[in-house]
Amino acid sequence: MNITIIGAGPIGCYAGYLLAKSGHTVNIYENHPQVGVPIQCTGLLTSDFDQFNLPKESFLINTLTTIEVYTPNNKITFPNQREYLVCRTKFDQFFANLAQQAGAIIHLNHSFQSKEGKNIIIKDTKTNLIKTITPEIIVASDGPLSPTAKAFNIYRQNRKNYYGIQAIVNSPFNPDAYQTFFGQEICPDLFAWIVPESKTKARVGLASQHKTKELFDTFMNKHHFQPLEIQAGLIPLYEPNQILQQDNLYLLGDASGFVKATTLGGLIPGLKQAEILADSIHNKQDYQKQLNPLTQKMKLHLRVHTILAKFTDQDWDYLAHLINQPKIKKIIKQHTRENPAPILIKSLLKEPRFLLYLKHLF
Ligand SMILES: Cc1cc2nc3c(=O)[nH]c(=O)nc-3n(C[C@H](O)[C@H](O)[C@H](O)COP(=O)(O)OP(=O)(O)OC[C@H]3O[C@@H](n4cnc5c(N)ncnc54)[C@H](O)[C@@H]3O)c2cc1C
Repeated sequence: MNITIIGAGPIGCYAGYLLAKSGHTVNIYENHPQVGVPIQCTGLLTSDFDQFNLPKESFLINTLTTIEVYTPNNKITFPNQREYLVCRTKFDQFFANLAQQAGAIIHLNHSFQSKEGKNIIIKDTKTNLIKTITPEIIVASDGPLSPTAKAFNIYRQNRKNYYGIQAIVNSPFNPDAYQTFFGQEICPDLFAWIVPESKTKARVGLASQHKTKELFDTFMNKHHFQPLEIQAGLIPLYEPNQILQQDNLYLLGDASGFVKATTLGGLIPGLKQAEILADSIHNKQDYQKQLNPLTQKMKLHLRVHTILAKFTDQDWDYLAHLINQPKIKKIIKQHTRENPAPILIKSLLKEPRFLLYLKHLF
């Protein structure tokens, strides 16, 4: 089949690789002149990345073994973890190379413009030349604002995005541990993070739907950090009513909103979704049906997010108190945050006081 992918992010390129490997003709159009630039991501992956069996050497910056969670007056430490910090430029280029080696063609400086009947219009932004193409399949992996989904009129109007800002800073850090900070003052609707690249350098940021820059500046000042570089971008909040396929158009990655609403991590869900998409196209299966197990996880993350977004500082401190019990930490240690269902079910069975928080669902 003749497949056009809009957006050469990691998710679009991974889908392009899988589809080209299965013998399809794949063209990927990317509006930037270079893959993986500019960086708009922290680049933290859970150990679930190992399930993809891909070599990490070319993009791995640090492996973190401890997570420290700070609530306004409490702290939880999770030792014995394994999380990967990647260079997003090299990470994206790794997936672009995979796609190219499998036979996909990546067209840089090519921007999706519009839809005209069965055709799509692509502009070569270097020459201003307009190309009209008629692919059998179109995959929109063009990020949270998905111009392609909008042109096809399937982008849900009520979709919400977070705005994430982070700085690269120099300071002394424990290179094995990353920190997250919760509470009304720091970041009322998500959290702030400090993720070390090394003993002397870290990625420091936060994401919010309101007053993000103000919150970020306050956090930076509190820690006396001076930014060496600022990176920022939108992150979609999962929208359960977003249609994921219509006729020959498929939505993928941030374009589809498949991001964990609890942490705004989109890389692992997106890569998993790319595998399901490639399989659905190749084996002529119903994409939305095949996605169902992943969709259920996205919905659960959204429910947990709905609860956490209403937390007071007291709620955060009490949650930390409940989680700090060895019986709960033992459960959390057995799972990653990619799959919250077993953590939630087992924790509720061991500690019914977690039920208190269900009031925030309504
Ligand atoms: C500050 C911040 C921190 C983050 N931290 C993490 C993290 O630690 N871990 C994690 O898992 N996720 C994180 N995320 C989310 C993660 O970056 C995204 O989920 C991920 O990039 C999604 O990949 P994608 O390929 O779907 O989209 P993108 O990476 O956004 O790629 C989309 C591509 O489409 C291109 N494009 C857009 N419009 C057009 C057009 N009209 N024509 C052609 N091409 C077009 C864009 O240029 C881009 O290259 C973070 C996001 C932000 C903003």
